[in-house]
Amino acid sequence: MKKFRVVLICTPEMGNLVPLVEFAHLLTNRDRRFCATVLIMTVPERPIVNAYVKSRDALATTTDAHNINFVYLPSVDPPSPDQYKSTLGYLSLFIEKHKPHVKNEITNLIQTESDSEDSDRVAGLFIDMFCTSMTDVANQLGIPCYLYFASPASFLGFMLHFPNIDAQIANEFVESNTDFFVPKDSTTELVIPSFANPLPPSVLPSTVLKRKRDGYVWYLRHAARYMETEGIVVNTFQELEPYAIESISVNGMPPVYPIGPVLDLNGPAQWHPDRVHHESIMKWPDDQPPSSVVFLCFGSMGSFVGPQLREIAIGLQRVGFRFLWSIREPSKSKIYLPGEYTNLKVKEMLPEGFLNRTAGVGLVCGWVPQVTILSHQAIGGFVSHCGWNSVLESLWYGVPIATWPLYAEQQMNAFELVKELRLAVEIRLDYRDGRGSDLVSAEEIEWGLRRLMDGDDEVRKKVKEMREKSRTAVMEEGSSNKSLGS
Ligand code: UDP
Repeated sequence: MKKFRVVLICTPEMGNLVPLVEFAHLLTNRDRRFCATVLIMTVPERPIVNAYVKSRDALATTTDAHNINFVYLPSVDPPSPDQYKSTLGYLSLFIEKHKPHVKNEITNLIQTESDSEDSDRVAGLFIDMFCTSMTDVANQLGIPCYLYFASPASFLGFMLHFPNIDAQIANEFVESNTDFFVPKDSTTELVIPSFANPLPPSVLPSTVLKRKRDGYVWYLRHAARYMETEGIVVNTFQELEPYAIESISVNGMPPVYPIGPVLDLNGPAQWHPDRVHHESIMKWPDDQPPSSVVFLCFGSMGSFVGPQLREIAIGLQRVGFRFLWSIREPSKSKIYLPGEYTNLKVKEMLPEGFLNRTAGVGLVCGWVPQVTILSHQAIGGFVSHCGWNSVLESLWYGVPIATWPLYAEQQMNAFELVKELRLAVEIRLDYRDGRGSDLVSAEEIEWGLRRLMDGDDEVRKKVKEMREKSRTAVMEEGSSNKSLGS
């Protein structure tokens, strides 16, 4: 049987890589004529990314894992500091430097194809939101290029309309002395077709509010190139984001395929290098009553320092709910991910005696196998940074979220969940920094936690309904499965 090979490449980050690899599995399982090659950019400073790839690679070679193979691209030198002035600039240039290697790999695949009658045909290249420079490679080699978008359709709509939004920011905003662009008229709101409600500027990604900065230019550049793709596969589903999906499924845009939720339900419990140490964390909820525990976790890049940790601790103590709280240390530089605090350091940063006082009701830990924790019946609510994978995982298990967005598009995700979909309660929609300069007080946390665990029945009910809808979407007759078929 002649096979069709798709080549996939993404930003070396957990939130992008995991759903891309799961998508490759979905595609190759769905139609056995497909096989997939995932190209990996090696980043030694991100051991967790490497551990994940290693484990998936081992699985692929030991279990004929559905026709997927991983190819490690040769490493490149990091961009020199005079070439970039933002994290996104660094990342985008780092990715771009891999272009010759990507071209080389795909050329070899095409060469093998033409040398032998039985070999696979290279059918297309999938890139992610920040790998748009690879469109050039696809164009040069004459293969179709598709975007795999691991964030919501609402944000995809924002990116597709970014040139218009840029014009509005240029005309109606002025630069403040903190580099942020602020509206000339404080009542200005942004009308973005993928949102039913006008957006307050405070929920735009920080980078998008700094119009003269390097990160902004990179956002615009990536967004413009989405239009060059042959189609966009989005990790969302029709029943979750009908409004946003409809707004971008229009003439003049690449066709959009919502195929989610695409989740790795085995999660880090299966591949994390410290999974043995995680066993005690995974067992801890076993002794807690159903829906009694609030779970706090802020993604693969979220971290806090002392003052904010203290406010959270005071908030938790005041409400008295049982809690499982993942705390991470800020990263050392742009390329590193947050690290683990030592036990001693955690003790020093939290209010004196906090760990002893809460020993029976709470657990403070570092990296957690999040999806496994969310699946536990003891978890009653999730304080989340609203990274899209976390949102989809939480909905899959019917756990309501209290929003505390930190970076990237998370403020917009939080806005969508709270204001448009009524699937979450608010702690904050517009938290900016994540490093303590925008302190969320213990009172705000207390208020949000009470609504999350005791208060908002409508949200709880809607989340339970969405749990069912998310599962139906991926079943045989479900909307996402049909979209995958297309
Ligand atoms: N995650 C985890 N344990 C942690 C933090 C994160 O397992 O302590 C997982 C989480 O389940 C999700 C991914 O890492 O699958 C984070 O992706 P998301 O899109 O939510 O946020 P990002 O890390 O990209 O900001």
